[in-house]
Amino acid sequence: MTIARHLTVVKQRIDISAAQAGRNPGEVKLIAVSKTKSVDVMLDAWRAGQFHFAESYVQEALVKQKALSHVPLCWHFVGPVQSNKTAAIANHFSWVHSVDRLKIARRLSEQRRPQLAPLNICLQVNISHETSKHGVIPDHIPALIEQVGQLSGVVLRGLMFIPKRTESHSEQRYIFKQANSLFNQYRSASMDTLSMGMSSDLEAAIVEGATMVRIGTALFGPRE
Ligand SMILES: *Cc1c(COP(=O)(O)O)cnc(C)c1O
Repeated sequence: MTIARHLTVVKQRIDISAAQAGRNPGEVKLIAVSKTKSVDVMLDAWRAGQFHFAESYVQEALVKQKALSHVPLCWHFVGPVQSNKTAAIANHFSWVHSVDRLKIARRLSEQRRPQLAPLNICLQVNISHETSKHGVIPDHIPALIEQVGQLSGVVLRGLMFIPKRTESHSEQRYIFKQANSLFNQYRSASMDTLSMGMSSDLEAAIVEGATMVRIGTALFGPRE
């Protein structure tokens, strides 16, 4: 299948799930996760109408951005953010979904060039009860929201979740429901984004309120 065809299929999955939940499919933004994939397939996706792309590795993303500088894409960063990469991330992306501590938010804010609009960030939250290094624990969300709110170079747009993998639709729903209730507990005027759902669980995520789904494999095929 071509990338354009994959894109159509994913959009249909989004539409069906939104309809099931009585939601407007326009509330769900599709982010194409293109890590490890070539600039050529990204261009195919763009020609088929895709605008939002996400990357996980800074060096790889910068090379692709250079190659695609003639194309007006919106770039999202979704990988772990290391302190020594914050300057590049702050100035080469419009969104960072994976902020999980104040130090990183501060560095992104300070290093974002003032002539750019504030960087959109989400807090990555760890609720899947597995031993993951990444993600703020729910108890720490309120303090982090308060502190991040004082930074002028970033704007807190919402929460991001990467639950542990499970094939069970009902387990997926259960975890995404918890995610949505945290989101509703803390959301404010500027917080309009619930980033959750990947190739294998986007339906459950949308039924439980996702506003951004991050899709790699279903668009570009398996990664090496
Ligand atoms: C790779 C990645 C995705 C895409 O996952 P697929 O299962 O290939 O759709 C989504 N979110 C993050 C944070 C990723 O690193």
